[in-house]
Amino acid sequence: MPAKILIVEDEPAIAELVALHCKHAGFETQSVAAVLDARDIVDESLPDLVILDWMLPDKPGIDFARELRRDDRTKDLPVLMLTARASEDDKVRGLEVGADDYVTKPFSPKELIARVRALLRRAAPELTDSALEIGGLRLDPVSHRVTGDATELKVGPTEFRLLRFMMTRPDRVFTRQALLDGVWGDHVFIEERTVDVHVRRLRVALEPSGHDRLVETVRGGGYRLRKA
Ligand code: CA
Repeated sequence: MPAKILIVEDEPAIAELVALHCKHAGFETQSVAAVLDARDIVDESLPDLVILDWMLPDKPGIDFARELRRDDRTKDLPVLMLTARASEDDKVRGLEVGADDYVTKPFSPKELIARVRALLRRAAPELTDSALEIGGLRLDPVSHRVTGDATELKVGPTEFRLLRFMMTRPDRVFTRQALLDGVWGDHVFIEERTVDVHVRRLRVALEPSGHDRLVETVRGGGYRLRKA
């Protein structure tokens, strides 16, 4: 799953430049030119990160960033602000209130992408492409292969995403709802017991190498992937 980036920028040339470099980096992008349109998109489905211009036609980008912070559903959504050096430098100190990072225009696309990657790594480690390994269980997001002590394991697509999500957060307990949000996505209405079905399938898939023991049921809580 490529990371979804929402670009909120009213200058078409800059929006295009940012989108181009994001796509080149392997991200999916959606571009809008006003806060109102960005609001609609976020209400519909959460992106993984927002690149947000400061000066927008309907209201300042920073106001939108603050709105996102106030709402439980969007408070962890990473926001990267674009600011224009001359006019907005003094306001940059106020950024902590709403944005996670900022770049000043004119910016180098390479630096912008590096910042985007850093924010994504912090917020959603499963969106980066590095292979994961826990106690001999290895998941390679690029080749979509899972091996247990070098034995290839047959893991279905949903179980693959579930395993990837849990391997990036070992030892943490996830409720069924948290797994639904993290693996199936926000605004997807699936019954919680669907999670149980996929956890069961995942365990069966990991059995040949004995790694099913890593997937623990936590009483009254949910599930956890043990570190080893
Ligand atoms: Ca602007």
